[in-house]
Amino acid sequence: MFNAKAYSAASATSSLASATIPRRDPTERDVQIEILFCGICHSDLHYARNEWPDVLPAVYPCVPGHEIVGRVTKVGPGVVKHKVGDQVAVGCLVDSDHTCPNCKAGFENFCPNLTLTFGSVDKHGTAPMTFGGYSDSIVVDERFVLRIPAHLDLAGAAPLLCAGITTYSPLRRFGVGKGQKVGIVGLGGLGHMGTKFARAFGAHVVVFTTSPGKTEDAMRLGAHEVVVSRNADEMKKHAGSFDFILDTVSADHDINQYLNLLRLDGNLTLVGAPPKPLALSSFALIFGNRSVSGSNIGGIPQTQEMLDFCGAHNITADVEVIPIQKVNEAYERLLKSDVKYRFAIDMASLKSE
Ligand code: NAP
Ligand code: ZN
Repeated sequence: MFNAKAYSAASATSSLASATIPRRDPTERDVQIEILFCGICHSDLHYARNEWPDVLPAVYPCVPGHEIVGRVTKVGPGVVKHKVGDQVAVGCLVDSDHTCPNCKAGFENFCPNLTLTFGSVDKHGTAPMTFGGYSDSIVVDERFVLRIPAHLDLAGAAPLLCAGITTYSPLRRFGVGKGQKVGIVGLGGLGHMGTKFARAFGAHVVVFTTSPGKTEDAMRLGAHEVVVSRNADEMKKHAGSFDFILDTVSADHDINQYLNLLRLDGNLTLVGAPPKPLALSSFALIFGNRSVSGSNIGGIPQTQEMLDFCGAHNITADVEVIPIQKVNEAYERLLKSDVKYRFAIDMASLKSE
């Protein structure tokens, strides 16, 4: 066991603060990683503030962070996938049972015994719970450590590990591509990645935002059209015309107004996880054979596929790089939808703690 530096929350109402946490020494198939950058996902904030108490009750102290990129510093004797010096990445998952049908199909994200990067019971007993990426190092089973294409900017690559795969996966599942009209709701971390992917897949992309000031950026990021969703007339113009809509909103909002924009058999997939249940009008579904789905990050094979796609198409997140000392301020800005379009923590800033 060794000590790592981290930023941790002591309770749902306390700020994140400097802390020391235990990490296990690499076992047979483990990779030890020096963390260089870690993205800030809105899920980090939901969890650290215990906003999902019935689904994923927070355990403290809590070290968030699941958009991790870094360099391998040590490997266990049985490691075959990675070697010291490699640039690697870790997302939301650090272990699973490898035996259930979902794991066997490459959907570790739906394993009944999965270990999340933070807030899961630590199978190795190093700590009561797993600790995430707001830290200078992490030790992870090699099967959950991904390769990053060498030429990608590392800070911009970090958010691919959650915002990237969470939007890539449903767009692929619903076959988004040429000839389709696709909506992306909410231009934050997930939304801006969804916009880039939907554009790269060849769809006609419409971004829905509550922030009129994001219009120009949305076009630069890949949108063909931008709709300010609080403008009812603008919304009406798109009634019954979308093949697919990806909803990334983190707070309570009216999904029925988006369902009404779907054409016959259209689908709206929710990836946003607002703490309170959303109200659903059955008529918005009945009139048009429409459906609503959910999507949860993605499995390890698809996460590697997404990273390789990003390498081939030069796709990274637009990041605002911050020192870890600004993490509490970044959380407040997330709540005001004031992020362009993902915060990435430069972990070198932890050295001064
Ligand atoms: P984010 O960067 O804060 O972006 C959320 C965006 O939603 C905001 O930028 C804003 O966009 C819009 N929004 C915020 N409050 C709103 C409101 N009251 N009404 C309408 N729109 C509002 O968050 P994120 O990191 O992208 O995460 C988004 C959600 O996805 C979170 O709930 C997170 O927990 C969840 N998530 C789910 C998965 C999964 O596997 N399903 C994975 C990661 C994250 P505009 O300014 O453009 O309106
Ligand atoms: Zn996330």
